[in-house]
This record gives sequence, C-alpha cells and structure tokens, in this order.
Amino acid sequence: MSSDLPILSIVLPCFNEEGNLRALIAAIRAGVEPLAIGYEIIITDDCSRDGSWGVLKELAAEDPRIRVQKFESNCGQSAAMWAGMKTARGKFLMTLDADLQNDPHEIPRFIAALEHYDCVCGSRVESRRKGDNSVRIISSRIANGVRNWLSGDTISDSGCCFRAFKRECIENLKFFKGMHRFMPTLIKLEGFSVTEIPIGTNPRFAGKTNYGVWNRLFASFYDLLAVRWMKSRMVHYKIAERIN
Ligand code: UDP
Ligand code: MG
Repeated sequence: MSSDLPILSIVLPCFNEEGNLRALIAAIRAGVEPLAIGYEIIITDDCSRDGSWGVLKELAAEDPRIRVQKFESNCGQSAAMWAGMKTARGKFLMTLDADLQNDPHEIPRFIAALEHYDCVCGSRVESRRKGDNSVRIISSRIANGVRNWLSGDTISDSGCCFRAFKRECIENLKFFKGMHRFMPTLIKLEGFSVTEIPIGTNPRFAGKTNYGVWNRLFASFYDLLAVRWMKSRMVHYKIAERIN
C-alpha cells in the first residue's frame, strides 16, 4: 500500500560501530520527530567484526521502521551506502555516518533546503576545527582542492556524506568504490541542482576511524580521473520535436 510508504529514508553504512548504534538511533528519532513525517532507517552492516550485527538485529526487532541488512564480506563505505539507497522506499533520501560525527538534529534543515534544491550536501569546512586535528583539516583541504581542480567542480567538502536528495537524483547513477566522495558532482552531471549547507561536526562517539591520511588523500585520485573523463564525455541533448 503506497500510503504506508515512508516519505524519508535515512541510509547509513556501518562497519564496527557497535558502541554507537543505540545512541545513533535515539538521536535520529529525536532529530526526525519535529518533521512529523513517516520515515525509515536503513543500516547496512559492511560485515562488521564487532557486535554491530547483534545490536542491529535487536534494534530492528524493537521497531519495524529500522531495516537492517548485512554484507557477506567487507565491501567498503560506498557499497554499503549504495546497498542502503537501493533498499530505500522514501521520496527523499538522506545519508549520514553511523558514528554520530554527523548530528541527526540537523536533519530538518536538510529537508527544508530540499524545497529549493534537488540535492543538499553538508559542509564541515567551518566547523572542522572543533572535531578534527590539523593534519586532517589540511589533508581534507588539499583533497577537496585537487578534486575541484580536476573535476571542474566547486564542492567545498566532497568527503562529507551527510546529504539529502530526491530519489530521482540517484536513479541513473552507477556506483563504484569510493564513489561516495563524488556523489554531488555526479548528481550535478545528471542535471540536478545541488547546494551545500554548513553543518557541525562532532568527534566520533565510540569506535575508530577507518581511514588514514594517505588512503583518504590518494585512494580517490584514480576515481577522480574517471569522473573527469565522464564529465568531458557525457552526452547532453534536448529533443526539439518528436513525432509518433
Ligand atoms: N564504513 C563502512 N565500511 C567501511 C568503512 C567505513 O561502512 O569499510 C562506514 C563507517 O561505519 C561510518 C562511515 O562509513 O558509518 C564513515 O567511516 P569513518 O567514520 O571511518 O570515516 P571518517 O568519518 O573517519 O571519514
Ligand atoms: Mg566518521
């Protein structure tokens, strides 16, 4: 029954986030409540090695709006995000991290901005100093600078996965490893409007980061060249007339 479908799907990738999941769900519930809309939370366990899956099964048993799935093997953040998006049933989708670095209380601001744009991306540029060390701040600035230079884009924080978008934005996207960093550029390429809003950033609530400076900076260079190629070779056309 279509009337039972959620308006908003909140999609999260999870790898070894056992200590975050209960606090995360409580924060998402509190964050979404002011919107007074039907929602679902989709968490994809990227084959965690800790007790994440056990906690997720308990959470799903307590609330049918929490939908969980688990990969057979660790496939990476992009794959976990994509698998969640494919499962999502909402008109609007949001992605965020499962470690509470993104504050779910900011969700209504994203949804409000969707009235004017097809896709709304969080930017941590202004708030970074509170949550990150200087190595991380500088490496992120370099990564964003190089990405924008080579992809011809102007996204200030392409690594931030706190985003909201209308479901049609991702209908034609082809996902690849590391693609989560290029979603705003690729959504723009599909002809949709994309904006950024400043957001806060928290230190991780529990657990530890999955990335170091080197894989953050250089792993996506190869992907960047592919995005640059795609941008230059993408076909654009408008039908002037059509008969029969
Ligand atoms: N993540 C994942 N699979 C991985 C690595 C990360 O699903 O192989 C998830 C992780 O659980 C978190 C998000 O991706 O929800 C971002 O990861 P992390 O916090 O380690 O990245 P950082 O915030 O340090 O950039
Ligand atoms: Mg994190």
